[in-house]
Amino acid sequence: MKKFNPATSLENSAHLSDNMMVNPPITDSATYAFDSGLDMTACFEGEKEAFLYSRHWNPTNLELSKALAAMEGTELAWVTGSGMAAITSTILQICQSGDHIVSSMTTYGGTFAFMKNWLPKYGITVDFVDTTNLDEVKSAIRKNTKMIYTETMNNPLLQISDIPALSAIAKENNVKLVVDNTFTPLIFSPHKLGADVVVYSMTKFVNGKNDATAGAICASAEFINALIDVNDGTAMLLGPVLEPLRASSIHKNLFTLPIRMKKHSENAAYLAKKFKEVGLKVNYAGLESHAGHELMTKMMNKGFGYGGMISIDLETPEKASKFMSVMQENGVGYLAVSLGYFRTLFSNSGTSTSSEVPEDVQKRMGMSPGLVRYSVGLDFDMENMYEKIEKSLKQLDII
Ligand code: PLP
Repeated sequence: MKKFNPATSLENSAHLSDNMMVNPPITDSATYAFDSGLDMTACFEGEKEAFLYSRHWNPTNLELSKALAAMEGTELAWVTGSGMAAITSTILQICQSGDHIVSSMTTYGGTFAFMKNWLPKYGITVDFVDTTNLDEVKSAIRKNTKMIYTETMNNPLLQISDIPALSAIAKENNVKLVVDNTFTPLIFSPHKLGADVVVYSMTKFVNGKNDATAGAICASAEFINALIDVNDGTAMLLGPVLEPLRASSIHKNLFTLPIRMKKHSENAAYLAKKFKEVGLKVNYAGLESHAGHELMTKMMNKGFGYGGMISIDLETPEKASKFMSVMQENGVGYLAVSLGYFRTLFSNSGTSTSSEVPEDVQKRMGMSPGLVRYSVGLDFDMENMYEKIEKSLKQLDII
């Protein structure tokens, strides 16, 4: 059998719509009519498939969901108004009061805060572990554990999770493995590696334009249908659905993701090499010195590179702050949170996207207070970009 290629699978999902439209229509109806009351009842009871109400399904979201499912190799997907909506809906669909989660200690700060501060209010407890240490994961599992949660490449340390090994632990213990693949779309296919549910913040690389927040949940048809069940589906009842107008624009952007990921990776690899040459403490999964390099090489889909995320350690937040301001003034990119944009973005993780993580936990996970995280853009001329960074480094006597 031919090896799964997420880009090929995505591209094969493209098709003409009615009236030979090259893009699927944007549907503009919140509700849908039925020929008879009996038909409507059958739809509510799950006996008839039809569009019912836009919070449940609408044709535009279905088109995007099908393309995402093709890219992930899952049966189905469902799209949400933000990445956090995808994450929280998934967690609340799987876990209820009295349940327990084993989560990576290093995750996006919002996810960490949801698990640490919000879930306990509803009787769901979480143990945070180093998911790169499989023994730690195994020994954290309890009788009431329902889920192992991790990010394929985590935010902001860029550690790599061993998805097949975590999947084996999950299966042995009859728990679900949920993986956030936001940093590495196409590069990893977590479902193909054994994850039950793959979540995305599409706000980042998947959309790539920084003009919308959006999320996705990719899983089996059984899981997605349960999620939108009219009686007890978490997504149906909490209502975090994506707006069809946005779904349509993200759908169009999705088809340039393969070339964008390739270029993000190429540019990040260029910068990582330059940073290393001038003696900076650089973290990039494409460097052989990265602790997860070998694992990533084994697990990744070839052709998309090692991703667009890279970090350097400037030791203190003060130094990081000055450096980022100078880089912005010199036109390197923007001092802004988020990632996956066509321009380069940089932020000091400890004081921004991981600020929800208490300082002692940041220390335990090995996050330097002076970490500058780059989401490397799609710049055509990387020599020009590096000249600006070098100028900034020299201005502050860092090199
Ligand atoms: N997952 C990761 C890895 C993230 O970095 C983020 C946001 O930065 C999220 C999820 C949350 O996504 P959103 O901001 O779209 O809700």
